[in-house]
Amino acid sequence: MIFTPSPLEKHHFRDELFYIKRDDLLDVDFSGNKARKVEYYLVNDFPKIKQIVSFGSNQSNAMYSLSVLAKMKGWRFIYFCDHVSIFLKENPIGNYKYALGNGMELRLSNDKCSDANSLDNDKTIIVQEGGRQNEAEVGLKNLALELISDIKKENIQNPYLFLPSGTGTTALFLQKYLPFKVFTCSTVGDDLYLKAQWNMVDKNIDIYPNILNSKKKYHYGKLYAEAYKIWKELKDDMRVEFDLLYDPIGWIKFLENKKKLKGTPIYIHQGGLKGNESMKARYERKFDKITLI
Ligand SMILES: *Cc1c(COP(=O)(O)O)cnc(C)c1O
Repeated sequence: MIFTPSPLEKHHFRDELFYIKRDDLLDVDFSGNKARKVEYYLVNDFPKIKQIVSFGSNQSNAMYSLSVLAKMKGWRFIYFCDHVSIFLKENPIGNYKYALGNGMELRLSNDKCSDANSLDNDKTIIVQEGGRQNEAEVGLKNLALELISDIKKENIQNPYLFLPSGTGTTALFLQKYLPFKVFTCSTVGDDLYLKAQWNMVDKNIDIYPNILNSKKKYHYGKLYAEAYKIWKELKDDMRVEFDLLYDPIGWIKFLENKKKLKGTPIYIHQGGLKGNESMKARYERKFDKITLI
């Protein structure tokens, strides 16, 4: 293990007890699950490798994390995405700005997945969008082991986990190594989408986490006044800043289902705070000040 264990904190929100695994505090350069996902590359040597290639959105947390990894390893980092607005180009912000600062070479492409994968050779590591791949297992297993030791230390009775999913890779590998239930929700698509993602990583449906839903449908990356509101309430009440893309949807769906869940909840803070810079700016452009109070 190359990371020092992140803290597990006891909090109250809306008069209920929650433990929060502060994986956002894992490391100064990396944070959250994207740090765990690259641990495999940090603990191993790759003498032949000269570059890392990936693809996805221009504000991705995974993109930033890979830029840190490439810089540490002295590798080139080539990243494909489908567009960068003129506004962002002229006003770099968030993950985009910091990844470029780490030397990322950004390439525009109409078929980012194929273009990235076409560069595969023995000098190159290809990382799939969002870090959905088996190499992520190494670091996420360590997170699971950390949780088991936290729970023992704190003597937490009947623990269960909740975390929002993108690709679902984090939730999947945590459930694989934890002897209690992991609950998650999709922020990207429906349940079928999430199960299809899991199926690409592991065919064993026995290790699939439990999926929670909400009455309302939320679209990935869209801005919702109620999402900003709960994000702000969490920040004001617990003094914990969560990510603005996944966590508000996660908390909304989690709280809507919480009555049905038995035991002591542990929420995994998966980091991503560098991305808040651009998310906050988007919220401030879309809503007036009153809505955002
Ligand atoms: C990437 C990310 C997720 C989603 O992780 P998956 O392993 O793709 O499910 C959730 N929260 C934050 C803050 C992230 O950066």
